[in-house]
Amino acid sequence: MARTKKIGAAGKFGPRYGKSVKDRFREVHKASKKPHKCPNCLKPGFKRVASGIWVCNKCGHKMAGKAYKPM
Ligand SMILES: [Zn+2]
Repeated sequence: MARTKKIGAAGKFGPRYGKSVKDRFREVHKASKKPHKCPNCLKPGFKRVASGIWVCNKCGHKMAGKAYKPM
């Protein structure tokens, strides 16, 4: 059981860590996973590969951004 209707991806934590923490995690997680526009080619293929590292899967552009969002 990794994903639930009410708490989304934070369901992976099961009953642990409390609601407000999981609410915050969900918001950040959702924002990091939604399609980001690449600043180089402007296509929506910009993905987070690690904390603060973002790479475009269309043109290969890699840059440092924020930990959970490109900038
Ligand atoms: Zn690109």
